[in-house]
Amino acid sequence: MQSFDWIKDTPHFSDEQLEELLSTEDKTAIETLRKRAVSTVFKIYKNSIYVRGLIEFSNYCKQGCYYCGINRMNQDIKRFRLTYEQILSTAVHGYELGFRTLVLQGGEDPHFTDEFIIKIIRGLKENCPDAAITLSIGIRSFEACQSFKEAGANRFLLRHESADEECFEKLHPNNQSFVTRKAALFKLKELGYQTGTGFMVGAPGSSISTHIKDIKLIRELKPEMIGIGPFIPHHSTVFKDHPTGSIEMTLRLLAILRIENPCALIPSTTALNTACKDGRIQGILHGANVLMPNLSPPHARESYNLYDNKVSSGLESDAHLRELGNYLNKYGYRLDFSRGDYRGSSATCI
Ligand code: SAM
Repeated sequence: MQSFDWIKDTPHFSDEQLEELLSTEDKTAIETLRKRAVSTVFKIYKNSIYVRGLIEFSNYCKQGCYYCGINRMNQDIKRFRLTYEQILSTAVHGYELGFRTLVLQGGEDPHFTDEFIIKIIRGLKENCPDAAITLSIGIRSFEACQSFKEAGANRFLLRHESADEECFEKLHPNNQSFVTRKAALFKLKELGYQTGTGFMVGAPGSSISTHIKDIKLIRELKPEMIGIGPFIPHHSTVFKDHPTGSIEMTLRLLAILRIENPCALIPSTTALNTACKDGRIQGILHGANVLMPNLSPPHARESYNLYDNKVSSGLESDAHLRELGNYLNKYGYRLDFSRGDYRGSSATCI
């Protein structure tokens, strides 16, 4: 019988160890990995699960990412964009509910020029002064990201999607490249953003070896936030018949990323919860410590369909925060509405 003792104390797993962790059927080994992930996050953030208020503000997108339901080629979709006033009132509603992180997420919609984004950030700062502002709006120029930062944005989410060039190319048309995306992530760090990256598990073209590259890119970037979820097909995309990414693989990867990045803020994602009935809590039980309830008005969340059957109601929405809190309490966790900034320092984190 193979010994997996090294799971308990290796700070960064070797490629061979990662390969073993991602392919083994040894349940005891996987449970050891999971427990280590949970105790790693507990040492830094205790039993806090940070909530971020998600505002999906537009499903118009100029990009043609082959996997994504809101890509520009999809004609079979009701497009929406929130007005400045709607974005602000949605944010203020979230702020009044207690959220101290607001996440602006949308397709790459040219209607939202750099100047317009700056106006929105300023409006949010004025009305929700102590809330952290996170942008998830795709790639913008260095100068634009600098202006957003000066206007008050604190964090930026930009998943690298796949750190394997071939896989990245299979997922995107050739106006996008892995090299550009990676460079954009390092620029965000340089500008002082708490930066988030991540990838889709089991996306077309991915494999254990491409996911090992994802883990290694994350080591190189040292992001403050890491978001991963299973790939889920969307019926109007070319990948409509590709199977959903494995839940088990997603959970193992979550645990590995937690162990290697003790201070990272890691969401238990909507994709995980869509693909798996108890995905939300499973993510947390594998080291995630963030949830992102949806604050968007109903017409927006109904049309922000990145993949089929995306959950946006029930515990996934702002309307059920008390139930969400009670649900987490049962597992020994508590909802934390504070800003939940990255707690890393060289003393505590690798
Ligand atoms: N446009 C912004 C960007 O590109 O960063 C933010 C929105 S984008 C739609 C948010 C994330 O949704 C992507 O980074 C991608 O990982 C995820 N996503 C899109 N389509 C998906 C799918 N079919 N399955 C799982 N996740 C998907």
